[in-house]
Amino acid sequence: METSNLIVYVPPVLFSLVAGCFFLLGRLGLSNTWYWGAGFAQTALGFVISTFSVQPTFDAFASGLIFMGASYCYGSGLLSHFRVPMQTTQRLTFVVLYTLVLTYLVFVEKSLIFQLFLTDMAFAFLLGWAILRVRRQASSGIDKALVVTSCIVVLDSVSRATYFTFFTGSSNDFADFADSAYNLAVHLTTITVCMFFPFSALAAVGHTALERYRRAAETDELTGLLNRRGFRYAIERGDNATRHGSLIICDIDHFKGINDGYGHGFGDEVIRGLGEDLLQVIGPHGCTARYGGEEFVAFLPGVDVITARDLAQSLRGAFAERAWVAFDVSEQFTVSCGVASLRAEDTRLEAAVERADRALYAAKAAGRNRVFVDTADVQTPLYLATGHSAGERLEA
Ligand code: GH3
Ligand code: MG
Ligand code: MG
Repeated sequence: METSNLIVYVPPVLFSLVAGCFFLLGRLGLSNTWYWGAGFAQTALGFVISTFSVQPTFDAFASGLIFMGASYCYGSGLLSHFRVPMQTTQRLTFVVLYTLVLTYLVFVEKSLIFQLFLTDMAFAFLLGWAILRVRRQASSGIDKALVVTSCIVVLDSVSRATYFTFFTGSSNDFADFADSAYNLAVHLTTITVCMFFPFSALAAVGHTALERYRRAAETDELTGLLNRRGFRYAIERGDNATRHGSLIICDIDHFKGINDGYGHGFGDEVIRGLGEDLLQVIGPHGCTARYGGEEFVAFLPGVDVITARDLAQSLRGAFAERAWVAFDVSEQFTVSCGVASLRAEDTRLEAAVERADRALYAAKAAGRNRVFVDTADVQTPLYLATGHSAGERLEA
């Protein structure tokens, strides 16, 4: 078998494989994989029809419809990937209009040249429409690559349609399509420059899926803050320059009593409330997380322990002032905080967490609703000047 004959099998095989990958990715629960899978499956089918002819007029009509269906699906895949309104009615109206003109050109005009020109231009228009709507949404490298490779597909269609319609004397007979220079050009550009498109779509959708699961694995569902794992990864991802700063740990006082007295559901609301206060008061200064149960943690890179103590104090005050009347609860609740500094010699974050925990324990033991700084951090003249000895309560 000649090499040129083998080329015709490459697009259907590659597009079928890519479509299969998208359908498999769909099992991860992603919404837009169906569009991509259907788009690439239709493209594969279009190439099968152009290779294994059923009847020339039928081939021209069916392949036109199939390639437009593929363009519609690619557009839907792009719009859905970038969360842009789908404009289903407008785009489907365009497909219906295309079908009417295609029917006229194939069955009345019986013109292969016009059929190819119409299909290429309509394919480019429908895909270009989606590209124009999503181009500003692409921020990551992989998303930009998807937009660029989509543009390449559009340019390929437009330049091929223009060249073969206006600059070559191609046959106008449907029966001559399979052996035409046009058909060879379609195969060659498809398996070269256009092949970046399916793989960038696959990479972009796969990347979105991984990001979604990573975020879910690192986020606390109740408060929307990072969970313990997310917090650890966020600190580990930080560079060494941000490796020192302060750590605050806070724990709601007498929380078991809140759960027992008002129910677990209300207990969840109290946890959510502290999460909101933490994000508002301390969030802008660093990384906040729900560490477990009703215990929260914040890492403040580059922030000294005194500033951290003041921020913890603001948090304590904000939470103590929270009213719960919306839940028919007139009682107010408090939180205790432990503060410690993270030092350059700390090889594990846990070392600083343990020190902050120790300060928290001391705050609880001293009566709760307090902010304590770890004893190792209160040996400085500044603290001695306040008249407190190491380990004593610094602020009530
Ligand atoms: P202390 O002042 O010493 O902190 O006393 P406490 O009663 O708050 O004691 P502790 O911190 O040990 O209380 C933890 C409780 O938090 C026990 C557990 O039932 C409850 N808890 C843990 N996770 C959740 C949750 O997601 N929702 C609710 N409602 N309760 C939770
Ligand atoms: Mg507690
Ligand atoms: Mg606790």
